[in-house]
Amino acid sequence: MNNESFWNSFLDIISSKLNSISFNTWFKDAKLIKLTEDKVVIDVGSKYKKDYIARFYDDLIEETLVSVANHNCTYELVTPEEMKEEVVIENEPELPRYKDVNNNLNPSYTFDNFVVGESNRLAQAIALGVAEQPGKLYNPLFIYGKSGLGKTHLMHAIGNYVVQNSDKTVLYVTSEKFIEDFTGITKKDEDNYDIVKHFKEKYRSIDVLIIDDIQFLGGANKTQDEFFNTFNFLHGLNKQIIISSDRSPDDLKVLEERLRTRFTWGLTVNIMPPDYNLRLKILKNKMAGHEVSALIKPDVLEYIANNCESDVRHLEGAVNRLYAYTAIYSPKEINLEFAQEALKDYIGNSLYITNNITKIQKAVAEYFDVTVENLKSKKRNATINNARQIAMYICKMTTEETIERIGLEFNRNHATVIHSCDKINQEYKTNPQLKQQIKDIKEKIAN
Ligand code: ADP
Ligand code: MG
Repeated sequence: MNNESFWNSFLDIISSKLNSISFNTWFKDAKLIKLTEDKVVIDVGSKYKKDYIARFYDDLIEETLVSVANHNCTYELVTPEEMKEEVVIENEPELPRYKDVNNNLNPSYTFDNFVVGESNRLAQAIALGVAEQPGKLYNPLFIYGKSGLGKTHLMHAIGNYVVQNSDKTVLYVTSEKFIEDFTGITKKDEDNYDIVKHFKEKYRSIDVLIIDDIQFLGGANKTQDEFFNTFNFLHGLNKQIIISSDRSPDDLKVLEERLRTRFTWGLTVNIMPPDYNLRLKILKNKMAGHEVSALIKPDVLEYIANNCESDVRHLEGAVNRLYAYTAIYSPKEINLEFAQEALKDYIGNSLYITNNITKIQKAVAEYFDVTVENLKSKKRNATINNARQIAMYICKMTTEETIERIGLEFNRNHATVIHSCDKINQEYKTNPQLKQQIKDIKEKIAN
């Protein structure tokens, strides 16, 4: 389909779904600026219209694009002012490759030692894809998640992989370093062509640019400008850009909108806090090969995995502390008592020694003849869905665990847990079979 017929079909559908006043106000003068396989850029005329349309017609536009293009398609609304801002890639002669660039990669963060579980599987798979084919698959790749969940580790892993498997140049910088590089120049001598050129060369000659913790770019307006230009330049040449942040592009209000929009051009992926199994797996992995690990009793690992819930850095801290204690006291074995003593200040007093949620998951899975993985997965077939909802309900009714923690162990958000519990709670009153099932499961757990 050519651009014109695409655009006409698009407008036809929109106009059939709106009354004529709304259509004439918001869409009649819109223009198609760019159409690619999976992306449409539309000029809507003004900032005011852009905000309004984005707010009230987002769903309509998305649905319409799907029906015209026959596949999912993203879109961007722009104004004539913004298009003027678009950086025309300067007609510079091919820049010399900036060979001396120190890529800042930490060789100890690799894919090999990144432990994968439900909460980070997608991010890891996508990161690996990008490492194998930089600039080809998802550009930019935007990774977000709370602190300590492995974003920096994954980004270095990508960089290390690229450096080892290709002759492409990589540069890893935190956004603070980017600001420093940039303001370093302006402070010293704004007109010093050589230094400015050096900065540009450094950033524009690389094949894979990794910027960590982009949220810290907020506030630095001139630097945001420079980043914007660098981004456009590299993106225009299909150079891979990888960005991380502690929040999603939508929530990155500290950055200018034109930057945020660009971050969603490629792929955005979220890393969630690790569930119990992943925490245990990471612990085992961290301890493997260490001489002390032979002394450790299995319940110590469970104890740590149960109590360092929310992030991997916290888990690592516990391991380091346990090792330090072991070095001082040279125990014959590291049992629960020793571990509790070693970690008492670190972990605090909320001691979950047995993990009720894990126990409930096991019992429910057995009862319905599914697996615990099924319960935690995205699968939605009726049996699994029902089992999952019952399991969440029992966790909520019979343990002290918070909704957040229950959600964490099922890879579900807060709202889903509440919804599931409400649903089962309703049914419980009128459905004797369900009542019996829950009774049986509780007995199973008790034994
Ligand atoms: P973030 O950048 O998200 O704050 P980091 O990447 O710095 O988190 O991770 C914190 C620590 O936890 C690092 O030492 C990292 O190696 C480790 N880590 C995080 N996730 C994993 C994982 N899945 N497997 C192994 N180590 C991990
Ligand atoms: Mg980090």
